Amino acid sequence: MSLSSTILGYPRVGRKRELKKAVEAYWAGRSDAAGLKEAEAELRKANLARLVELGLDRDGSALPENSSLYDQVLDITFLLGAVPERFRGLGGLDQYFALARGNAEVFPLEMTKWFDTNYHYLVPEIGPDTPISLKNTDLVDRFTEAKSWGYLTRPVIVGPVTYLALSKGETEGYDPLDRLEDVVAVYEQLLTAFKAAGAEWVEIDETAVVSDNLSASRDGIIAKVEQVWTHLLSSSNRPHVLLAAPYGDSTKAFPALFRTGAEAIAIDLDRGTLPSADDLAGINNLSSRTLVAGVVDGRNIWATDLNKAKDLLEQAKDLGFTVKVGTSTSLQHVPHDTDLENWADPELNENLHDWLAFADQKIEEVVILDRGLTEGWDAIADELSKNADILTRRAATAGVAVDAVRERVAALTEADRTRGDYAEREAAQEARLNLPPLPTTTIGSFPQTTEIRTSRAAHARGEIDDATYEDRMKEEIERVIRLQEELDIDVLVHGEAERNDMVQYFAELLDGFAVTKHGWVQSYGSRCTRPSILWGDVAKSGDISVPWWSFAQSVTNRPVKGMLTGPVTIIAWSFVRKDISLGQVADQIALALRDEVADLEKAGAAIIQVDEPALRELLPLEQSKHADYLEWSVGSFRAATAGVDKATQIHTHLCYSDFGQIIDAIAGLDADVTSIEAARSAMEVLPDLNDHGFSHGVGPGVWDIHSPRVPSTEEIAGLLRLAVDSVDPRILWVNPDCGLKTRGYDETVASLKNLVTAAKQVREEL
Ligand code: GLN
Ligand code: ZN
Repeated sequence: MSLSSTILGYPRVGRKRELKKAVEAYWAGRSDAAGLKEAEAELRKANLARLVELGLDRDGSALPENSSLYDQVLDITFLLGAVPERFRGLGGLDQYFALARGNAEVFPLEMTKWFDTNYHYLVPEIGPDTPISLKNTDLVDRFTEAKSWGYLTRPVIVGPVTYLALSKGETEGYDPLDRLEDVVAVYEQLLTAFKAAGAEWVEIDETAVVSDNLSASRDGIIAKVEQVWTHLLSSSNRPHVLLAAPYGDSTKAFPALFRTGAEAIAIDLDRGTLPSADDLAGINNLSSRTLVAGVVDGRNIWATDLNKAKDLLEQAKDLGFTVKVGTSTSLQHVPHDTDLENWADPELNENLHDWLAFADQKIEEVVILDRGLTEGWDAIADELSKNADILTRRAATAGVAVDAVRERVAALTEADRTRGDYAEREAAQEARLNLPPLPTTTIGSFPQTTEIRTSRAAHARGEIDDATYEDRMKEEIERVIRLQEELDIDVLVHGEAERNDMVQYFAELLDGFAVTKHGWVQSYGSRCTRPSILWGDVAKSGDISVPWWSFAQSVTNRPVKGMLTGPVTIIAWSFVRKDISLGQVADQIALALRDEVADLEKAGAAIIQVDEPALRELLPLEQSKHADYLEWSVGSFRAATAGVDKATQIHTHLCYSDFGQIIDAIAGLDADVTSIEAARSAMEVLPDLNDHGFSHGVGPGVWDIHSPRVPSTEEIAGLLRLAVDSVDPRILWVNPDCGLKTRGYDETVASLKNLVTAAKQVREEL
């Protein structure tokens, strides 16, 4: 049975974030396991009905079943029973959610970003003795349940090689891929179970084949995928398999994927390219295999250029494949439906409506292209010309290309990206700031209390006026300043009370962005974000941070840091236009920030921090693209910050990652002080920085703010002593791992007290 045109996965949160609400109600004890199951099943059913309504076939191949209560990688961990010792006393949902979130006794699995997206998965911990067997039938049960509703679905499952390539060793140096045989044995049983349940097709995502950024080598991963799937597919007791290589260029992997004998292969034609005739030499009988051509971008929100997609589909056909239309990735990274927005709202640029395709619109695109493919392109001539029209009109819309912005970016010189000699800067800043050794500071945000959130929501709804809102925020800022003075912190922050989110706040104030009201996407578990839409040329057109900063500085004699979000992070956490290069977009944002930096400096800020926590996240999956990325990303940071006087101290902050691959780039930012996540890895980053001759100020985090645990003075002092032993104490700063907005006040005050005491102790020992 052949495969129909399809999408690789559908958003899981629900149009009204039903999943989030159901799961959070369960956690809060407002519903029980049965209630959660019921709500989740209802959402799944509604999603399937929607897929059919939008035109996907019901034939057992086209409807993806990629639902999950929390995360698709966690689902495999749970299926395999591959849980670390500390969770083994638990069972059922208690165990499932403890793995995800921890509980009073156990800390959860680590969370990390899924390839180069902003989605986080839970990292399996695998050791030589981790139990691995078919532990439950949840995935098959979901299939069977959907079947009972009248939908024959195509279960979507993370592949065994990818699962282990994304795992970490239970102990340092252990390679989880050593357990591949055990995992494969379970997949064999799983395929048999799906077959018995009546599944016609399953989709296996072996995404690891597109990445050079994993600890296992890409060639090794590709070889393992070929070996494992050749074996699994040799059985006849299984459904047909769609072997998917989404999220990047699979050209390197293509021959191996093909040789496995999978009935269908899905590739990403947004980031990747079609294999060439040479790549396919020696592979026979192409027409007996289906190629799902991922011509619709699954992780951005722009309407597809249908004419371009048509050409790609024709080229794929010319290579000899049986071609079907697909998406480049699962649609879990985009919101449900543009029709949920109120396009009459003056805050939304109404032009945008036509330019956008959220998940449901992408399905419509797949269906249209499929019609063209099967009935001939004339059958969709109207759609093709309407689409071409929209794209032409878009290019000519005011704000899309602003001459002044383009000219300014084009005129950027190396000098604009270069600050003076560091030794001179250091001396000038020392004289101006006069700080003690091991100065203490925080990363920016203080806890976002219920009062702050309530005021912001009321202000957004127009229930309180600007002046009242401003007063409340100022009260909060003053409170946070007083608290930091009492704690005796050296360099203060205003606390970011006025910011809903470190990217959206800037998107709302800069030209070139739009923000949606319902455009939620899953970030992890029940957490959703609403990425802003960067559609036009970016520029600063009014106040951003200066009034808040000025107020904060006016109530204290200690230095208060100006606080901005850097270009790469703004790009990483928004939906970004694709009609110009990311490097150009980054430079536009950089110049807008450069203006803001200048305004802060003029207002008297002695220290300005520009956060780039997402610098590592956007690192391309392919090694060959790293150098170019690092050049434009580092270049944009420098363009944003290099305009200041030598006595103005530039800080930056990085987190969420293993920094190994980007240490040189971090040094290349040329910030005067870099605060960096380090507590969880016991200062591991310091020797790395040392090896690279890092000589500027550095603040390795000494408090892991991801948990409510309060670190003791001894613990923090211990970390500081490690730091003092590995780098010159003259460059050391003392700070937490990241901002405090998700923490409560009790643990924040207690932890900061210990942090300051520890800094003073170690200062004495210098
Ligand atoms: N300044 C930001 C904050 O403190 C940085 C957040 C981040 O690194 N993610 O919240
Ligand atoms: Zn951070």
